[in-house]
Amino acid sequence: MASIPDKMKGVIIEKNGGTDVLQYKTDLPVPTPKAGQVLVKNDFIGINYIDTYFRTGLYPAPSLPYILGREACGSIVKTGGGEMYGLQDGDKVVWMAEGAYAEYTAAPAAKAIKVPTDMDAHIGAAALLQGLTALTLIREAHPVKKGDWVLVHAAAGGTGLWLCQLLKAVGANIIGTASTEEKVDTATKAGATHMINYSQDDVKTKVMELTKNAGCIAVFDGVGKSTFDLSLDCLARKGSLVSFGNASGAVPPVTIAKLSPKNARLMRPTLFGYIASREEFEHYTNELFDFILKDKLDVRIHKTYPLSEVATAHDDLEGRKTSGKLLLDPSK
Ligand code: NDP
Repeated sequence: MASIPDKMKGVIIEKNGGTDVLQYKTDLPVPTPKAGQVLVKNDFIGINYIDTYFRTGLYPAPSLPYILGREACGSIVKTGGGEMYGLQDGDKVVWMAEGAYAEYTAAPAAKAIKVPTDMDAHIGAAALLQGLTALTLIREAHPVKKGDWVLVHAAAGGTGLWLCQLLKAVGANIIGTASTEEKVDTATKAGATHMINYSQDDVKTKVMELTKNAGCIAVFDGVGKSTFDLSLDCLARKGSLVSFGNASGAVPPVTIAKLSPKNARLMRPTLFGYIASREEFEHYTNELFDFILKDKLDVRIHKTYPLSEVATAHDDLEGRKTSGKLLLDPSK
């Protein structure tokens, strides 16, 4: 068994705010796994937009001080007993829960899974949360079929690139939006059939041109406040507006009558609601790993930051400077 120190590096917040509230510490206590938990020594930590919501207070932290971060990959160094779902000491796993911005995390075994032997470990942390989000959205929020016209906002972002690749595999006609030509190129390479640089072109006009005025049967909108009305405008009759995030701020309360002109569906799903049971988590994770390995999906990593530079990583993500996954290396 690996020797486990008492203290570890990690990032905590004691109050909500800008990136200045992120505190890098070198003397946090290493957690002890309880029943149903595994202690993982994290090799790579995935950054997700949701981490910024817990930092700012848009989503309240369960208690303060709080260790941010929702996913990582690494090795199990201790098990806490109880239901382990076949996991044991030494297994290389990827997991999704709370408390990821640290060298060690006591993660629920129910939300940890072995990384396939033919997959690089860091790919697990780069793929899991955003890949599962995209997969469950196109399977459950709006089951997308071959030939469907769909609109993906922030198509060159972490989740957006997954949507492009998975929707391409389904055979959808993908219209993506992005703010720069570089991002337009990145999303096009990932499978977007048509890209709109919204800094230059009017999105609704372009969508209506491309769809011959029919609109899109599904709009996947992780941008939120600034795009909500536009997304409704771009929807086809009987279409689904899947609003799944708040990168530009939370969508204000909506008047339900806005849905009537198109008999539209409105959804506000979260990934954790689609993978609540172990069976669902395994089903979708295995499907995602199959896609990555068999369809040779490109798991684009924007940059790996030292854990001590987490504030720069948040600044880059919120400043729209990134395309693909941001990782943290807890050894630095
Ligand atoms: P991204 O990598 O997509 O980064 C956000 C992107 O949003 C930016 O790069 C930018 O792309 C675009 N954007 C548009 N307006 C703004 C703005 N005002 N501020 C910042 N960014 C803006 O992040 P993620 O892939 O991590 O997350 C994308 C969205 O998906 C988030 O809203 C996140 O909360 C949501 N999400 C939801 C989940 C769920 O369970 N519901 C799970 C996972 C993610 P551009 O420059 O091209 O406009």
